Amino acid sequence: MHCPFCQNPDTKVVDTRISDDGHAIRRRRECPQCSRRFTTVETSILLVMKRSGNAEPFNRDKVIAGVRKACQGRPIDENDLKLLGQQVEEDLRSRGLAQVDSEEVGRAILKPLRELDEVAYLRFASVYRNFSNLEDFQQAIDTLRAEDQSAEEQSAIQQS
Ligand SMILES: [Zn+2]
Repeated sequence: MHCPFCQNPDTKVVDTRISDDGHAIRRRRECPQCSRRFTTVETSILLVMKRSGNAEPFNRDKVIAGVRKACQGRPIDENDLKLLGQQVEEDLRSRGLAQVDSEEVGRAILKPLRELDEVAYLRFASVYRNFSNLEDFQQAIDTLRAEDQSAEEQSAIQQS
């Protein structure tokens, strides 16, 4: 591997570590010419199978771009989006599969997006689940309400 500082074609590995989640290997390298150090990360490629039947490598930026559209005008900043992209990737990688369906990616987005912002969640769900009328929205809202209520009841039980 070339040194990114001086382009020397020969660098040596001084430390190798597996990331905490076990899905990446980090190598600390040193250039014998300029003595500077840098890190490389090795991960397996996660493929996303699209509805068309084509597969493409998972792309966190693509996930973020899709979610960003649903978040317009909502109090969500770039850091929230970055974190969500990371959560989605970790969720998918934790399944230990080399390939997932694009549907799975959509589902993996819905959960953290809902915790972030319910309006953005509904917008995203309406596209992803192909809502065609008001009843679809109503149903999704009812589900959100019912689940919020049971979550509140749960915390009330825990507090008493
Ligand atoms: Zn160098």
